[in-house]
Amino acid sequence: MDEFNKIESLRTHLGQLRGDGESIAFVPTMGNLHQGHLELVRQARQLASVVVVSIYVNPTQFGEGEDFDDYPRTLQQDRNKLESVGADVLFTPSDAEIYPHGTGDRALLTRVEVPGISDQLCGSSRPGHFVGAATVVTKLLNIVQPKAALFGRKDYQQLLVIRRLVEELNLPVEVIGVPTWREQDGLAMSSRNRYLTSEEREQAPLLYQTLQWVSRQLEAGREDYIQIEQEGESRLQQAMFVVDYLSVMQPSLLPAQSGSRSLIVLAAANMGSTRLIDNCMVNLR
Ligand code: AMP
Repeated sequence: MDEFNKIESLRTHLGQLRGDGESIAFVPTMGNLHQGHLELVRQARQLASVVVVSIYVNPTQFGEGEDFDDYPRTLQQDRNKLESVGADVLFTPSDAEIYPHGTGDRALLTRVEVPGISDQLCGSSRPGHFVGAATVVTKLLNIVQPKAALFGRKDYQQLLVIRRLVEELNLPVEVIGVPTWREQDGLAMSSRNRYLTSEEREQAPLLYQTLQWVSRQLEAGREDYIQIEQEGESRLQQAMFVVDYLSVMQPSLLPAQSGSRSLIVLAAANMGSTRLIDNCMVNLR
């Protein structure tokens, strides 16, 4: 695996590969890689002859008081995992490389904003998060210029934000959403799971179990969405979660409508100091 931390040297290398007729698939990450990330890399392998992975903990998508400083940074282990699944190129830029004018005053930075989709769910409780994520993904797509980029469906709202910016900014890349990779007990894999105490870890699968319970209510034909959301929330509260939201929506993230053929149930909740998110797609007859 070739590793670069400078944009210019990465571009030169990828330019040569493209000149040799290779195609590029790209997986952006913040590192501390788990099987979910590695699944994105495996799927990327099927799509292109060269797989590029980036590891960059992007400061501008973290709010004040969030876990930017504590976010797990495990570069050597990540390298080994990426080698084991056959990634070809690793990009590990510094903050100065990505933000040459610093991030001291975010209001002064050129940025990408995707209104509408970003303004609800995680966007309401994490102001500025999706601007930070959309901006860094746009930068990384411009740097790598892949034919395809892969993102997890676990971060469903983020996936929609990225699909929208790619469409509206006419970026020549195919965005691919990959299903959520889970632990055996159903907990969605996340770098943040390692913050959980053993007691919290035992409770954490109840997030997905509650989403599945809500899905079953919808499959049974219930359309009293607000009532179902409240029942789901109280199940989470009984399981020690502090709920940010549990929402039944259309897959476009517009409000759920009676008679919809498919819906998505999304939730974000804190278990202790750890924010967990998950979602579940529901197909109705
Ligand atoms: P992160 O390092 O958390 O920024 O995640 C990098 C990419 O991996 C994002 O596209 C995530 O949606 C995706 N991802 C994270 N967890 C999972 C998972 N459990 N299953 C599938 N994809 C995931």
